[in-house]
Amino acid sequence: MTHITASAAEELWQSARSQLESQIPPQSYSTWIQPLSVVKFEDNLLWLETPTRFHLEWIESHYLNGIQTHLKQQSGTDIRIKLVVARDKPLSVNGKVHDADEPIRGPELLPAKTDAAESRVQIHQPDSETHLNPRYTFEAFVEGDCNSFARAACLALGDFSRLCPWNPLLLYGGTGLGKTHLLQAIGNRIVQRNRGARVLYVTSERFTQEFIHAVRTSNVTDFTQRYRTIDLLLVDDVQFLATKERTQIEFFHVFNALYQAGKRIALTADRPLADLQGFDARLISRFDSGLATNLEPPDYETRVAILLNRAAMDSFPLSREIADAIATHITSNVRELEGVYVTLAARCQLLRMPATLELAREIIRNRTGQSAMRPPAEKILEVVSSHFGVSIDAIRGKSRKKELVFVRMLAMTLMTEMTNMPLKAIGATCGGRDHSTVIHARDTIRERRDAKDPQVMEALQLLVQKLSLFTLVSGSRAS
Ligand code: ADP
Ligand code: MG
Repeated sequence: MTHITASAAEELWQSARSQLESQIPPQSYSTWIQPLSVVKFEDNLLWLETPTRFHLEWIESHYLNGIQTHLKQQSGTDIRIKLVVARDKPLSVNGKVHDADEPIRGPELLPAKTDAAESRVQIHQPDSETHLNPRYTFEAFVEGDCNSFARAACLALGDFSRLCPWNPLLLYGGTGLGKTHLLQAIGNRIVQRNRGARVLYVTSERFTQEFIHAVRTSNVTDFTQRYRTIDLLLVDDVQFLATKERTQIEFFHVFNALYQAGKRIALTADRPLADLQGFDARLISRFDSGLATNLEPPDYETRVAILLNRAAMDSFPLSREIADAIATHITSNVRELEGVYVTLAARCQLLRMPATLELAREIIRNRTGQSAMRPPAEKILEVVSSHFGVSIDAIRGKSRKKELVFVRMLAMTLMTEMTNMPLKAIGATCGGRDHSTVIHARDTIRERRDAKDPQVMEALQLLVQKLSLFTLVSGSRAS
């Protein structure tokens, strides 16, 4: 079994997280995945902590399989996950303590503290008071034309020593473009430079949940009071408040109180507020008194710079050539860009090998999904034919010679797995065979592959590699 170090496990976990982040809606990600934290890694068992028992069960029924499959794919070994419920810690905001929604202990599942501390995997955890993630700083944020105005606006709001010409500040833009990063950078800057400043970062879902909890437990006054003592309030993804009328009203009160007391407020949304359906007009006009600025998708140079910067922070040797390949293929979104990088770094650390262009390409191909860049059937025939040195006509022909049958079956299997052609069309492409022949070929090859037949394993591996190189080249030509 491959031996995995705790830090490689951390990288793998980060890669699983970023994969999920790009696959599930942001609110599900922030509600369910973000709060998970690594406790330790031991005997190929990754211990993850969930805030509540309910949370644990939800992860188990919705995400556990996906996470385990991802870890297995990335590591080539069976990494199991053990979910444990966190010790019952009350949440606190700037010293004021309030009850966790569901204080459940799981003592039988909790690892002994000392033992956990020893092998504790270092991962950036949000601060328990401000909820800020220390990773999101201005220093770690790469400036480009796509974000320089937004960044400057955030820097000004994050400087308590000066009057800020805009308050509130709204950042808007598509997913994965750095809104959360910049928003939290304001908070991290203020916490660093102003001792005692009360900063709170909250997602609008969390705000809503806390509010509902306060209503349920008749603690609305406490809730409002707690928010009103804050010097800088950062609210992420306010679009989720759109349909929640009561929460919006409460938010409006909090907002007004802070605003009138001259406190600073920054918000993010996925689009300009005027485009948000279901937002209270009063709230919109309040926001209008500040500045709204948007984040654009990064251009090529910024994408390369983000990758190189991230690698430098991790002391990971990423060549310009590889950064270039990733930035060429992943164009729309920084989160996706980072996802490829994190997966690459994790694999290299795991296999103890340097990053190669081939590996980077394989990861890009896996992450971009095969839909965008499927090799056409003709290309598969061409690659298979040249790989084995047999003609395309021979593959299509009637010969039952053993080697030819094998090559033909491989070609059909690759077509079933790498294109979305119907079986009938695959049969037709391979010399007018019917769909049951294709199924038989595919099943035979799969069986031999599952039985680790070296001939099949080697052929598949090489062919898939050749085909994926082709898909990337053609993908870049198309874009
Ligand atoms: P959003 O909130 O807009 O969906 P995030 O702030 O979560 O996006 O950004 C996604 C990821 O990309 C984060 O890990 C963030 O650190 C990173 N990121 C985005 N923009 C930049 C940038 N300009 N420089 C460095 N990292 C960035
Ligand atoms: Mg965000």
